[in-house]
Amino acid sequence: MVSAYLQLSQKELERRALEAYEIYRECCVCPRSCGVDRTAGVLGFCKLNDELNVSSATLHFGEEPPFTGGSGGVGNIFVASCNLACSYCQNYQISQQEPRAGYSTRQVAEEMVKLQKQGANFIGWVSPSHVVPGLLQSLCIARELGLTLPIIYNTNAYDALPTLKLLDGIVDIYLPDIKYADDELARKHSKGIDYGLHSKASVLEMYRQVGPLKVGHSGLAEGGILVRHLVLPNGLAGTWETLCFIALELSANVPVSLMSQYRPVHKALDVPELSRKITADEYQTALDMANDLGIKTIFAQDLNSEIHNLPDFDDIMRPFPLQKATVTG
Ligand code: SF4
Repeated sequence: MVSAYLQLSQKELERRALEAYEIYRECCVCPRSCGVDRTAGVLGFCKLNDELNVSSATLHFGEEPPFTGGSGGVGNIFVASCNLACSYCQNYQISQQEPRAGYSTRQVAEEMVKLQKQGANFIGWVSPSHVVPGLLQSLCIARELGLTLPIIYNTNAYDALPTLKLLDGIVDIYLPDIKYADDELARKHSKGIDYGLHSKASVLEMYRQVGPLKVGHSGLAEGGILVRHLVLPNGLAGTWETLCFIALELSANVPVSLMSQYRPVHKALDVPELSRKITADEYQTALDMANDLGIKTIFAQDLNSEIHNLPDFDDIMRPFPLQKATVTG
C-alpha cells in the first residue's frame, strides 16, 4: 500500500503542519482548550511548549496482529506527557512525571526513518493528541529523509475535531482506545472533561476518514480504524455502552480489541475500585457482549499473556524488555 501522506504534495503536508502550529498560539489542540500560548512557552495541562518531545522511539511487538504481523513490529513514537492523567496509566513514567528533554522535531523524523530501516511495518504515534502540530512538522522532515511507512494514530480518543480534520489524508490507521462511557468516572479516574462527548465525536470523525480496518493478503493492515477498549475492574469502563456505540453508531464491521491487560499500577492501588486486576469472568462477559452485538472481528487477549508485562521507560531504548528483542540498525 502507498501511505496516505505520500499521496499529498510536500507543499500540502507543510501547509497542514503550519496550520496546525497556529493552534498552539491559543492552544485548543486537544479538547481541554487550555487557551495558553505554547509558542511563547506558556504551559497548559499537558505541560509541553511548542517543541515536540518524544520519550522513546522503539520497535514494539505488543500491538494487534494486523500491525505486528511478519517480523516487523510497529515503530512506536512514545510522546512525552499526555492530555489525560489516568490514575492507572502503565506509561506513567513518561505520561505524568515532569517531562524530561526527549527527542525533538528533527530527531523524531530521524528516529522514524531509523525504525523504517530496522524493518518496522508502520510508524505508530502513541499518545499524539496534544502534539499533533509537532508530529506533522516531524513528518514533513521525515518524508524528505525517505520515510514511506504508513502512520498509526494510537490515541486515548480524547482528541479535538479541528485537529483531527487536519490529519485527513495523512493518517492511514486510527487506533483509539475508548476508555469510558461515563463522564463522571472519566473525570474521577483520568481528569477527563466531557470525555464521552469528545471521544465519540473523535471516533466518528476517524471512521469518516478511513472506514473499518482493512487487512491485506499479507495479514497486515491496509488502513482503517480499529477500536480498543481496556476492560477495567468493577465495570468502570462502561464496556456495554462502549460496545453499543461501536456496533450501532459506527459499524459492526469495525474490529474491536478488548484488552485484558489492566494492572493496578501508579496511583490505582490507592483507589479501592481500581486496586485489582480484572477477573476471568469480567473479561468473558466483555467478550460475550461484543459477540452478542454482532461485532464481526474481536481481538482478545490471554489474561496471562506476556503482553501484560509492564513497560519500564527508565530504559528508553528498550522499555519492553520481555518482548521479542528489537532489531538494531
Ligand atoms: S494540547 Fe495541552 S495545552 Fe493544548 S489544550 Fe490540550 S492539554 Fe491544553
